[in-house]
Amino acid sequence: MSRVRFCKYCGGKPYRGQGICRECEKRPKAENIKRLRLWNGEETLYDFLNQSNISDRNIKTMESLQDIEDEGFRQFLEIVQEIAKVRPFKRRRWIVIRDKHQALWQRIIENDYFEVLLEEYSVQNCSFDPRSEDS
Ligand SMILES: [Zn+2]
Repeated sequence: MSRVRFCKYCGGKPYRGQGICRECEKRPKAENIKRLRLWNGEETLYDFLNQSNISDRNIKTMESLQDIEDEGFRQFLEIVQEIAKVRPFKRRRWIVIRDKHQALWQRIIENDYFEVLLEEYSVQNCSFDPRSEDS
């Protein structure tokens, strides 16, 4: 007999052997599906940003995420789409954007979704401080 080990919506601990956790069970199904789509969308964008190149196929995938109803996510998506246009390559991406696409750079540093990415980057490149004003 197979036991469900993870909640199908959030990956949490399932409740009473069902495929859903206690928290998700309290919510309407439509809300759970919405949350799951948002979570998957976030994962997808982080994956794209971690790749060495954002491909044309990735750009198509991003178009399919446009109907996710979440204002914060929508802004994140718009920024990643802009990044894919101006700097699809990961190498030197933040430096190029900071120096040549200042309006986009401003949106990136003000967006919470990027905080962890920029932190990782400045740890690996000790001389680089993404929040510094000088160029
Ligand atoms: Zn759950």
